Amino acid sequence: MGLKKFVQEVKNGNISVEEHTNKIISEAEKTNKQFNHFNAISKELALSQAKELDKKIKKNEADGKLLGVALSLKDAICVKGVETRGGSKILSSYRPLYDATVTERSVQEGAVVIGKTAQDEFGFGSFAVNVGVDMKIPKNPHDDERACGGSSGGSGGFSALTDNTHVSLGESTGGSIATPASFCGVAGLCPTYGRVSRYGLLDYACSLDKIGPMGKTVEDVALLLEAISGLDKRESTTLPNPLGEYSKSVGKGVKGLKIGIIKEFFGEGTDKNVDKLVQNAIIELEKEGVKTKEISLPANDKYAIPVYYLISTAEASTNLAKYCGMRYGIEDKLEGTFDEYFTKVRSKNFGEEAKRRIILGTFARMSGFRDAYYLRAMKIRTLLINEYKKLFKEFDALVSPTMPFIAPKFKEIDKLTPLQHYMSDLMVCPPNVAGMPHISVNAGSSRGMPVGILFTADHLQESKLIQLGSAVEKVVK
Ligand code: GLN
Repeated sequence: MGLKKFVQEVKNGNISVEEHTNKIISEAEKTNKQFNHFNAISKELALSQAKELDKKIKKNEADGKLLGVALSLKDAICVKGVETRGGSKILSSYRPLYDATVTERSVQEGAVVIGKTAQDEFGFGSFAVNVGVDMKIPKNPHDDERACGGSSGGSGGFSALTDNTHVSLGESTGGSIATPASFCGVAGLCPTYGRVSRYGLLDYACSLDKIGPMGKTVEDVALLLEAISGLDKRESTTLPNPLGEYSKSVGKGVKGLKIGIIKEFFGEGTDKNVDKLVQNAIIELEKEGVKTKEISLPANDKYAIPVYYLISTAEASTNLAKYCGMRYGIEDKLEGTFDEYFTKVRSKNFGEEAKRRIILGTFARMSGFRDAYYLRAMKIRTLLINEYKKLFKEFDALVSPTMPFIAPKFKEIDKLTPLQHYMSDLMVCPPNVAGMPHISVNAGSSRGMPVGILFTADHLQESKLIQLGSAVEKVVK
């Protein structure tokens, strides 16, 4: 059942929130043995929230957009009292003393927090295989030999797996919402940078991090976006602009919308079946009245990945400095000098990819290299934004596949070099670097595995993405 109907039934007293919560928690516990979608299941918290809601509903005192809806959150998003590790061993047993703004707002709208989902350590990956050294890799519910996609892998995986009413909060720095949405066959919307507060999110790269909704349908995602968006006095990069009519844009129709088809992302380098399914979806949209034209994003095609990996690793290397086993992070036996102690804690408790990124990022912002790498990347970032801005004068949105291939098998991922791993973000990196909102929705499946179509719109034009995404749901069967 979709969120809207579910909330109505809960309000009418036809569904007990406690019963539904019990059901979905048992499902999460049971399926976690095979699929590892959760790093933590917050049974106690969920049941107490559910009971409280049921009481209020009986007294007619309950309201909210997410009333009784089960919500999972990427491990990097703080939930008071629930182990929050960002997928890393270095934060083992860390229980935040406060809720992230998105957690607080969702709960205020009546959501029930069921747990923290699996992810690449601090978000460092495209397949959710770079998990912390003591953590498990989430598996794709359509084929457990394949990846969920990263880094919000558990959010995508469980959203696809469950038949109970559920939504999830993911986080994207360079594609981590769209990628798992594509590989798992769900909807995932990454909002404009600053639309949703990052307060209470464990930082990966502050100038790139965005929290966004994932779920079975575009409407569910739109409702969750409404609940979490908007200015937050505790987070200075949040935008004051009024919210769009997100859920009202569902099913609004797409007649007259102008879409640019990004020519670099079709053809060579993209799996033939993926290419075809996305092209078919575009043809169906044309029948609904969308106007299309082939366009080109040459600068983004060439530079978005190198720019992204320079900026994100530079910012990550400073953000991770605080996890030293003293101010933050798991403690060890205190011996030797501080440097020796920090080295021991960080060597033992960061995974290989986290270490690689700390080294890369530190290099990029070292004196002598800073101008050549980090600052130059920041300048090119402005050019990449301008390339988009020019196109958005003419187009409502741009379209491409989300990923160039279906969810890969773990044994295929094992063979990738780090550079090949990074290159798979070709289509999702550009909107992330530019802070542009984007949505991935299912466009059909190839060899039994889902294929995602990606729409990118101008800053703060999330409503158009919802319009387009819901149109795809209607025409693609
Ligand atoms: N794949 C990208 C990376 O490895 C994106 C991750 C993210 O968005 N958190 O950094």
